[in-house]
This record gives sequence, structure tokens and C-alpha cells, in this order.
Amino acid sequence: MLVAATENISLKRSYALVEAKRVSNLLKSESKENIIELTKNFNWKIKSIKDRIGSLTYDFALHFTDFLKNAAIFREKEWKLINQVLVNGEVFLTKNRITRLLEEEVRRHIEDKLSIKVGSLPQKLMNHVEQLNLLFNEKRGKTSFEDFPKEVDITAFPPCLKSLYDATASGQRVSHIGRFALTSFLINIGMSVEHVVDLLRSFSDFNERMTRYQVEHIAGKRGSRTKYIPPRCDTLRTHGICPEMNEICRTISHPLPYYRRKLRAVKAEVPS
Ligand code: SF4
Repeated sequence: MLVAATENISLKRSYALVEAKRVSNLLKSESKENIIELTKNFNWKIKSIKDRIGSLTYDFALHFTDFLKNAAIFREKEWKLINQVLVNGEVFLTKNRITRLLEEEVRRHIEDKLSIKVGSLPQKLMNHVEQLNLLFNEKRGKTSFEDFPKEVDITAFPPCLKSLYDATASGQRVSHIGRFALTSFLINIGMSVEHVVDLLRSFSDFNERMTRYQVEHIAGKRGSRTKYIPPRCDTLRTHGICPEMNEICRTISHPLPYYRRKLRAVKAEVPS
């Protein structure tokens, strides 16, 4: 559910692949009967055989349509149908090859399951979802949310955060989720705890000690040491914190990528 909620196609693909590889590794130590049992989930037409042809002993006979369904994406010549032992519409296969085909079947099965639309989850879970996205992008060598320029550029704020920022700076009332979104956004784009606390000073219910504690907590300097990320656009929309969507908004699902994209656009506009 968490992976599906990331709406990150590359992450979903990687997750499905890793799970499928794990399954195929486990299958290597399973009996032929158990493997056949598993293939029933995918309606494979398969039977157990014991046939030695040349130097190879074949353990399974699989209907060629099930073979093609899974082997079609393999590029190696050894997987072409023309290079198989084909008897009465059945491809003779070793246990290793059957587990490889099953790996592909499992991969597609998991990918299909991950294509569901999860919708909005509670904020606590969405934090995990965002952490997954963040970690995945970092592992892939992409720039992380933390690589923002040192100077905060208010002109690159998305409409939602700009209006929260303006409301806060002028001492207007801002909801709890609005305060959380603004604080976590500012911290993630590089504003110091000190600056954020100063900004929040304009609230009529401002309490220096409490505010500092909360900001430091969001910045990952207290408690679990987890740095919080602002909620995604759909969560902000649900809470009525999405005043207007512009062109960039239509290409992103989170305020942080908005900021990064807008910064790039602003930079491109400035003549060198
Ligand atoms: S679409 Fe997202 S980034 Fe744009 S205003 Fe709405 S919540 Fe903010």
C-alpha cells in the first residue's frame, strides 16, 4: 500500500522486481510439486516430466503460450521459442528456467497490484510514503529534496505555500495542518530553525518555547530525529490549502518538486 501510494512508477517497478527475484530465489529450493502448485495462481498449463535430451534433464513441460507470455521480453537467444525443445505444443524446461519464468509472472502480478489508486492516507503514513520516495531518489543518485540553494526564494513558492507564508507573516489565523505544511516546507528548502521561529512569532498564540520545540521536531533535531516533509498536494487539497493550481502544479504532486522546478525556470529566465 505504501509503495502504491508513492505514485512513483520507477519505485513500483523496482519494488516488484526485487520481490519477484526474492520469490524466484526461494523457489530454487522448493520441490517440483510446490512449484506446480504455485503456477496454479497464474493458470499455467504445466506438468512434471523427467526427460533427458543431450546433456540436459528437463523437469517441466509448459504450454508454449504460457512460455511466450513470460519469455517474450527476454532478449537472449536462448529464450527464443525456436531454440526450445518443443513437443506437441509444450516447451521442455529445467527447474532453473521455470523459476526464471515464474519470476517474470510474479513481477507483472505485483506491478499490476501496485497500479491501484490509494488516494489520500493519514499524514503519519504519508510521511512514510514521502520518505520512501526520498530514499528511492537518493539511492538512484537523483538530487534529493535537501539539495536546494542556500537562499530561500519566495517567488518560487507554490501558490499554496505562498498564501500560507503571507498569512503567517501578517499574523492571520492559519490551521494546524497549514502551520505544519509551511514549517516543514521552509525547513526542507533550507530555512534555518531560527528564521522559521521568527516568522511564526506573528501568531497571536505564539509561545517561544513550544514553537521552537515543534520546529526543531519537524526539522529532525528532536525525538525520533526524523525530518518531516510537507504533505502532498492531494492532502493539502483535501484540507482546502490549495488556492489555485497553475501550470507547474499540473505537473507535480508535491510542493517540494514545484519549488525545485520553479527555481530552475527562474534561473533560466535570468540573463547571464
Ligand atoms: S497543486 Fe500542490 S503545489 Fe500547487 S498550489 Fe496546490 S497544493 Fe500547492
